[in-house]
Amino acid sequence: MLNPLSSQPQQHVDVIIIGAGPSGAIAASLLHQQGKSVVVIEKQYFPRFSIGESLLPHCMTFIEEAGMLDAVNQAGFQFKNGAAFRKNGHYQSFDFTDKFTAGHGTTFQVQRGDFDKLLADTAAKQGVEIRYGHTVLTVDIDEQPVVTIEDNNQETYQVKAQYILDASGFGRVLPKLLDLETPSNLPSRTAIFTHINDNISDSEFDREKILISVHPKCSAIWYWLIPFSNGRCSIGVVAEPRLIEHIKGSNEQKLLELISQEPDLKRLLSHATVAQECAVIKGYSANVKTLATNKFALLGNAGEFLDPVFSSGVTIAMKSASLAVETLLKQLNGETVDWDKAYTEPLMVGVNTFRTYVEAWYDTRFQQVIFAEDPNPKIKQMICSILAGYAWDETNPFVAESSRRLSTLVKMCQHQAELTLVSNAEEVV
Ligand code: FAD
Repeated sequence: MLNPLSSQPQQHVDVIIIGAGPSGAIAASLLHQQGKSVVVIEKQYFPRFSIGESLLPHCMTFIEEAGMLDAVNQAGFQFKNGAAFRKNGHYQSFDFTDKFTAGHGTTFQVQRGDFDKLLADTAAKQGVEIRYGHTVLTVDIDEQPVVTIEDNNQETYQVKAQYILDASGFGRVLPKLLDLETPSNLPSRTAIFTHINDNISDSEFDREKILISVHPKCSAIWYWLIPFSNGRCSIGVVAEPRLIEHIKGSNEQKLLELISQEPDLKRLLSHATVAQECAVIKGYSANVKTLATNKFALLGNAGEFLDPVFSSGVTIAMKSASLAVETLLKQLNGETVDWDKAYTEPLMVGVNTFRTYVEAWYDTRFQQVIFAEDPNPKIKQMICSILAGYAWDETNPFVAESSRRLSTLVKMCQHQAELTLVSNAEEVV
């Protein structure tokens, strides 16, 4: 059949995937391995810059599922074994190998341009077709889904598929085209970030962990420092716009001014030089009316995005790819599938776990937990599991009943802090 918009015949595949980022590449690989015909439409050419450079160990599960573990392990990315936090001189670190949930305990800190290209190239080597420089323009899901695409010669053509996976990240193609967007219940926040030649000489600095620092006077402002294997770091600051906009100057000046307000970070980065132009993302949290139907599913950032503070984005993106493919294979093999039960509800277990801790980070309750002195080792392992990305493990009480358990833990930490204060006061007396 001829496509009415162009002279090209309409193409047919089992699944069309919009976007070749982590969720698109993993989903494409998993479907191809099961013998399904897949085409990935990617509007950019790789490598392209993307933010989201600190991975969590749980995402190695999905990289392994997709047969990409060797490629990732051998790529020379910065090894990562945990997360460190600093606030007003207090330092707390979490070793991801010492966690409650079984599974990978280490991962990498990656330049996303290289990482995303590696995943996409590995999927292509496995046989997946990726069309770079092609952009999805419209979709019609009234009957069998049909996607209209503009190729790299500005010609349009159509692909008919049994199913669409939207892995378009912040492009949010289907939420926009199908009017699925709803406002996030998280306040709007702004991130300013860049890469630096870090020139860090402090021998105590742990390059194998992301460092999250909290502004000494305003707990709602935090910074990430993500070391790479090439002597550079990704550095960024996150805050509500009102806490950033009053600072005069360019984005770089705003970022440097905020870094200079955190004494430990200022000292650590005293010889750093900016290696690329600062970028800004505003109002990144996103929500949708529906994550999936029997015609499409939203993966990764095309669906929900919470907040960067616990580096959960790529892990959620890959988990969504794995879960959507598992569900889709049943549908493609003739089973009737309830997408809410099979995809949305299980995916939201982890998303909502992260949501509990993100909200409690900003209202500072979770900061009290992170910086608690002498934490109970068993509880620390459970919290560590979540920080390592195992937010779907409902045998972990801090996943199964995240809000209630967290409230109890916060009270315990406050009580402990009061006892410490009293005993310190007694020592002084
Ligand atoms: P993406 O990686 O964004 O890929 C989407 C692809 O779709 C792109 O390549 C794009 O070109 C393509 N596309 C878009 N529109 C179209 C179209 N119309 N047609 C064809 N192709 C299209 N996550 C972490 O895990 N760790 C972190 O440290 C972290 N830090 C973050 C910091 C900030 C400030 C922000 C905002 C996010 C951060 N994230 C982090 C989240 C992370 O960036 C995302 O969760 C992750 O990139 C999502 O992957 P994805 O596969 O869903 O989409």
